[in-house]
Amino acid sequence: MIVMKFGGSSVESAAAIDRVVSIVEARLERRPVVVVSAMGKTTNRLLECAHLAVAGEREKALGKLAELRAFHHAEAPEVKGEVDAHFAELAELLRGMSVLGELTPRSIDAISSYGERMSSLAVTAAFSRRGIAAEHVDARELIITDDRHSQAAPLYAETYERLAARVPQLAARAVVVMGGFIGSTKAGVTSTLGRGGSDFSAAIVGAGIGAEEIQIWTDVDGMLTCDPRVLAGGRRVRVISFAEAAELAYFGAKVLHPSTVLPAVEKEIPVLILNSRRPDVEGTRIVAEGVPSENPIKSIACKRDITAVSIKSTRMLMAHGFLRRIFEVFDRHETPVDMVTTSEVSVSLTVDNTARIEGIVEELRAFAEVHVETGRALVALVGEGLGERKGIAGRAFHALNGINVRMISQGASMLNLSFVLADDDVVKAVGLLHAEFFTELDPRVFEVAA
Ligand code: ASP
Ligand code: MG
Repeated sequence: MIVMKFGGSSVESAAAIDRVVSIVEARLERRPVVVVSAMGKTTNRLLECAHLAVAGEREKALGKLAELRAFHHAEAPEVKGEVDAHFAELAELLRGMSVLGELTPRSIDAISSYGERMSSLAVTAAFSRRGIAAEHVDARELIITDDRHSQAAPLYAETYERLAARVPQLAARAVVVMGGFIGSTKAGVTSTLGRGGSDFSAAIVGAGIGAEEIQIWTDVDGMLTCDPRVLAGGRRVRVISFAEAAELAYFGAKVLHPSTVLPAVEKEIPVLILNSRRPDVEGTRIVAEGVPSENPIKSIACKRDITAVSIKSTRMLMAHGFLRRIFEVFDRHETPVDMVTTSEVSVSLTVDNTARIEGIVEELRAFAEVHVETGRALVALVGEGLGERKGIAGRAFHALNGINVRMISQGASMLNLSFVLADDDVVKAVGLLHAEFFTELDPRVFEVAA
């Protein structure tokens, strides 16, 4: 068995769903279990309706809901009857919400679950139309969660038991199709795993049925050697470790947050990222163990437009407790810190989210001199074992010759060497680093030019 997960853009239209059917059809002998997201932007649309309804804009909410129904009619005509029944319930829910004027996490889950409930029916019907045996399963009967609505965590023992009891026997005779993202509490109340939760669902399902592989079908070829929004011409990374992929996500890579596939990686089930518009591309394989590579760096990640804050103690020497006081301020303002460097009396750090920077600076000024620099960027070279290899920093600085590096960090994880520099320099810097580290490529790990 394999799990094949298709994201919102992979099922955004009738044509996209047709592509999904073809992709799955070509893999029938591997006994696929298909997990789908809501069609296109459906989840966002449903939440917009809910927000309008509680804000007293009932007619607007129902109007938007009618647009979403028309979209489902047009792109999933085979399930019109079921779609209409679902939209009738949604209209009821919105009316109730507008009377109550209150949006609870539980009602958010009730509303947002409809996207996956309908997309999974649409995809099941598309298989049947093409003469492929398919079985729809309501994911809420299998994925059992705690009751932290909108951010629920699976109860693994119960969930795995249910998955193992139902899915393999269905998969032996049909393509099993279910919605991602949704589950239910022990009491049977609909819950969701949090935004973007379908990848997580796929990993849970894969782990629960002991799948041989989990495929995450999306709209990119996989992970690249550099961020395509910064530099074109990056090569596809064929295989990457879970730890490397997690580090890349932390430093801004957008493809897949590997923590969402942790249940699969823990069971050593490989996770593949694949492109549903170019299904013949082999994608990127995320594996539990590090992969030997001639290239020390697997990819360069960037976080752009970040802010650096330098904090200098107003006392002569850095008394103990200085770092604690600094981090307490950031903690009180719920602002994550990405990189930290220290000297005797100074600390520099970077933040991505500056919504509360004014309050932070004001509190820091009670015991330190504070200087804020906007328009910075963080560039991270990521590769397993980087801390033990000789000469990497030398090569990186040599490559960056002429570019002013404001902060440097290495050693925290052995997985990254990162720099803060002016955002204006980032395209040039990534180009130079990419040329240094990715001109010769180990073909076991990287796609080599055709
Ligand atoms: N449809 C849900 C969302 O948009 C879950 C997912 O697509 O992964 O967040
Ligand atoms: Mg998604």
